[in-house]
Amino acid sequence: MDIDKIRSEFPILGRQLYKRPLVYLDNTATSQTPDRVVKAIVDGYTTTKANVHRGVHTLSQEATELQENARRRVKEWINAGSTSEIVFTRGTTEALNLVVSSMGWMVLSEGDEIILTVMEHHANIVPWQLLQQRIGFKINVVPIDECGQLKLDVYRSLFNERTRLVSVCHASNVLGTVNPVKEMIAEAHSHGVPVVIDGAQAAPHIKIDVSDLDADFYTFSAHKMYGPTGVGVLYGKEKWLEKMPPYQGGGEMIASVSFEKTTFADLPYKFEAGTPDFIGISALSKAIDFMDELGVDNIAAHEHELLDYTTRRMMDEIPGVRIFGTAPGKCAIISFLVGDIHHYDMGMLLDKLGIAVRTGHHCAQPLMHALGVEGVVRASFAAYNTKSECDDFIAGLKRVTAILS
Ligand code: PMP
Repeated sequence: MDIDKIRSEFPILGRQLYKRPLVYLDNTATSQTPDRVVKAIVDGYTTTKANVHRGVHTLSQEATELQENARRRVKEWINAGSTSEIVFTRGTTEALNLVVSSMGWMVLSEGDEIILTVMEHHANIVPWQLLQQRIGFKINVVPIDECGQLKLDVYRSLFNERTRLVSVCHASNVLGTVNPVKEMIAEAHSHGVPVVIDGAQAAPHIKIDVSDLDADFYTFSAHKMYGPTGVGVLYGKEKWLEKMPPYQGGGEMIASVSFEKTTFADLPYKFEAGTPDFIGISALSKAIDFMDELGVDNIAAHEHELLDYTTRRMMDEIPGVRIFGTAPGKCAIISFLVGDIHHYDMGMLLDKLGIAVRTGHHCAQPLMHALGVEGVVRASFAAYNTKSECDDFIAGLKRVTAILS
């Protein structure tokens, strides 16, 4: 990969912070956005802004075409069976809430059970708990081993005749662990149980093939994969989406409305009430172009090189470092602590050196609890990061550690 060429598409990477070059290692929270995506947004506002689906006029038709092209692009990108299976949302959080509210209500009753894992992001825990309060089902949790891998024997043992659903992340936003979701889905299906995959951390690093995975639902956010903020995708198998009731009511999601009876639009519009972020949605297709041109496998290989290099140097050169998540083949995420230095102090001082890392519980408090910590520092890599940034990070860590120890 030609990293200089890649970086030239990201003007933000040329920024200085405290008179030092920005070293952006907070890619797990959100990645930066290449010029072509920004340009698509600007073009949308300056040349084709008109509400989708409603108009006969040219601008509206062009805007609709851009949005529907993006849907086709996403469908191909994740190898879905049909564009009916691609629902645009505000992000992974909304996509998961949609599934919980619509599908959860439909399949769960008091006394039923669902399976989550201890490494889930709050977005894949709290919506289930909100529904749990209203219905009264049980949430079973798959634990992890010392590397941060799911204990699959426990997972298998949790299925019984009351198990109705599994919801699991493809990759952990803290440990980087890539879960064997294909195997997990096959196991669930052998019990007749559907599976929801939170793909927020997989979509930027792994080629997603929902048909090969046989996932019932798959969710991800554009802003973590070089795309715009405020746009996400819910893939759902048509057989499920057809049966599920709408999530929100409003314009665009109906076939006809009267005070006596309302009927709903066909898929996927039944789940897209109101005006979507059609400009952001069309810009998502440019983010996919960006990843496609580079090749997801090449992006992942580059990130892994940085991950291995940085991990090795941290282990060799930073006394007292503890890395959380050492599963083979993990995503390029390093969550760590050094001695008894508080994660927040570490992050604050690294920032003063121009190095952006994230600190805290990373919306994964149950996982923090399982790891026996309150929070960790997290450095994470993307296609545009360089080895020299990893060196800056190591130098920064040494300096901050010396100050805080
Ligand atoms: N799941 C995981 C694993 C995540 O990392 C995130 C974002 N941190 C989310 C869900 C929520 O994504 P969003 O905030 O884009 O809705």
